[in-house]
This record gives sequence, C-alpha cells and structure tokens, in this order.
Amino acid sequence: MNRKITPPESVKELIEDIRQLPGVGRKTATRYAYWLINQEQTYLTKLAKEIHGIKSLIKQCQICFNTSEGDICSICSNSVRDIGSICIVEYAEDILQIERIEVFHGRYHVLGGVIDPLKGSQPEDLHIPELLKRIKTEDIQDIIIATSPTAQGDRTAQYIRQQLKSFKGNISSLGRGLANGTLLEYVDQDTLIAAFKNRK
Ligand SMILES: [Zn+2]
Repeated sequence: MNRKITPPESVKELIEDIRQLPGVGRKTATRYAYWLINQEQTYLTKLAKEIHGIKSLIKQCQICFNTSEGDICSICSNSVRDIGSICIVEYAEDILQIERIEVFHGRYHVLGGVIDPLKGSQPEDLHIPELLKRIKTEDIQDIIIATSPTAQGDRTAQYIRQQLKSFKGNISSLGRGLANGTLLEYVDQDTLIAAFKNRK
C-alpha cells in the first residue's frame, strides 16, 4: 500500500520556490515553509512586501557596482575613504565581508561574477571595461584583487592582471591562507584579516 504523504499543493509550491535560494535543499526548504506557515500574518505580509519591492529600491552604484539605494553607493560617496586604493571583488556581498574586518579603507569595484567559460561567463560579461576605465581616469595607486580562491576566481584575477600590465602602481592579491575552493563570502574573519595582511 502506498502511504506516501505529500504536503498540500500550495505548500509544495512554496517549498519549491524556497529551494531556489542558494544553499537550501529540499529538507531545509520544507522546514522553512512549515515555519512560515506558523508565523503571524503581519510578519508574512511585511516579508512579502519587502521581497516584492526590493528590485525597484536597489540599484547598482554607477561607479563601483555595489548595491545601493541611490545612484552612488555610501562607500563611493564617503569623502573619508582613500580614493587612491581600489579593491576588486566578485560580488557586492563580498564588500560587506571585507568591511566587517575593517582593514581596508579605499573603494571597491564589483565585477558582478567571475570568468567561467563552462557557464558561459566571459570577461565582457563582467564590469572589467568599467574597471579599466576607472583605473585610467581616477588617481589610483594601489589595486587589491580580492577574488575568491577558486579556479574561476584565480582565472579572473589572472585576466585582470594581464589587462593591467601597463599599470604603474601597486597590484596585490589576497594571501592564500584561504582554503582553496572557498567563496570569499564563507571565509571567517581571522582568515580574511590574515589574507589581507599577507597580500602579494
Ligand atoms: Zn560605489
């Protein structure tokens, strides 16, 4: 006798949608769905409203491609930041990670991904032309390449270095105390501080 019990259709659909989130499998998605069902309606309405509106509220900074509610992000518009120093990251969330350890006081440039031919991601799909333009037009002396220690991150860093051959200032990459294959997002703070200190 088949006694396999499945959730109601509406719950199933919710589970499938939650499963789209990064790092969430079926089990976790099911737990989240049932957790949501048990919350107050006011919370659910607020959450749904926030998700609904987020795309129209958030833009990309016109200078560095960080997420921002204005045309220019809070870092680029901060006059205290060192404009001679630029840190190149894969994703906007990497900025949060680096800001947390308080070792870098310059500005950033978000690539928007990595070079990954298997996934069809080429240099022209990233914000590399904009980066090269910034380096030409802004007074930058120090470039830190903070891509993740993955094959794709390394390939991207290598490509950027090639493009910057004629750059007269200092170029460094994060020291590889970082475990290979880890996304910057998941690196713990102490390791990230060490990686910043041991730049090469
Ligand atoms: Zn910015």
